Amino acid sequence: MSLKTAGIHHITSFAGDPQGNVDFYAGVLGLRLIKKTINFDAPEVYHLYFGNEKGSPGTIITFFPAPGTRKGKIGGGQVGITTYVVPPGSMDYWENRLHSLKVSFTKATRFGESFIQFRDNEGLHLELVEREEGPVNTWTAGGVPRDKAIKGFGGAVLYSADSKHTQGVLENVLGMTPIGEDADAGYIRYQTTGDLGNLIDIPVKDVPWGNGGAGTVHHIAWRAQDDTEHQAWDEWVRQHGFGTSGIVDRQYFNAVYFREQGGILFEIATDPPGFTVDEELNELGHKLMLPEWYEPQRAEIESNLVPIEPRVLQQDESV
Ligand code: ZN
Repeated sequence: MSLKTAGIHHITSFAGDPQGNVDFYAGVLGLRLIKKTINFDAPEVYHLYFGNEKGSPGTIITFFPAPGTRKGKIGGGQVGITTYVVPPGSMDYWENRLHSLKVSFTKATRFGESFIQFRDNEGLHLELVEREEGPVNTWTAGGVPRDKAIKGFGGAVLYSADSKHTQGVLENVLGMTPIGEDADAGYIRYQTTGDLGNLIDIPVKDVPWGNGGAGTVHHIAWRAQDDTEHQAWDEWVRQHGFGTSGIVDRQYFNAVYFREQGGILFEIATDPPGFTVDEELNELGHKLMLPEWYEPQRAEIESNLVPIEPRVLQQDESV
């Protein structure tokens, strides 16, 4: 038996400011707030999900924005850069948009592709790249036109504290294929089968350890196609010598967590049931959704959370 993930399912990060988080991912990047819920282990903290119209696997970034969260340091043992893919020909639009919303950016090249790199309002490192692959996003926020909208993840740059070991996990556990090395930039690239979240770059050199906190990624989740395959993944990961969390119910998918030797927390997450399991497609993200066992405490939980809403940000067209 051998298993192969189609690519990234979701990426989960820490943040400190709930409305600032919504303003960046919906207001600046134009993603849809697809689910407003709480951290099931800490109900005083939001868990916010952003993605394409449906919150398809490969488009989902999630946050635990908790006021007072200490700032983290990006480094080894984390996803270093989260890569978003936009349609070919839309980079000028994004440069102008970031400029008018006062988000500074730089340019970088890897594997012959041009990236614009920037940070979110809390320091999380992001980049945009143009690619043909991936379905067009059919719903956007913040005034971004559909033909320029972010499609989802292109992939991610993994900052491993033990690059050789992490490369081994990508190839031998996750089933990805090494497709090349960019010796000038110092990266190896892995590819898998999905049309989003399918290209993973990893620095050849080990990256010094980071610290978790606001502005850093907590974990990256890889796709399993269904619950049957998910059980096989739990076995498969254990067979490779990793301790796992066992299967955990996350309401919108099932999860298995394990930490690879380069220090990065990996999760295997099921594509089903998805975000329409408790809300209609056109209602996603409007109401605070609670798992059944928290419903009796809804009034108290809501009173502890600061209200948030997606909104269109004022652009400064004069800059
Ligand atoms: Zn997760």
